[in-house]
Amino acid sequence: MEDAAHALAGTYRGPSLGGFGDLATLSFHETKHLQCGEGGALLVNRPDLVERAEIAWAKGTDRLRFDRGEVDRYQWVGPGGNHQMSDLSAAFLLG
Ligand SMILES: *Cc1c(COP(=O)(O)O)cnc(C)c1O
Repeated sequence: MEDAAHALAGTYRGPSLGGFGDLATLSFHETKHLQCGEGGALLVNRPDLVERAEIAWAKGTDRLRFDRGEVDRYQWVGPGGNHQMSDLSAAFLLG
């Protein structure tokens, strides 16, 4: 797990920061150079961790699999939390 909270667009001896760990985190807190008040991103650099990251993002559910039509109902399948950025914060960040 790489803490790249304050390293967006940074590099180390060539490769981009956020690309060294299996997972990396970015922060969009108001003290960072790209910010939207609060929030962040999880960079998943290993394909086998994508589903686990989706479950954590979706409050511990397989909701994204349901949204893709892969399961007929969603349920709680593992640890997770409410880490979803608000639409307003995302729109600010996109701008
Ligand atoms: C800011 C920062 C954090 C914390 O980020 P939050 O989005 O406030 O949780 C962690 N690690 C580093 C290196 C930081 O600069």
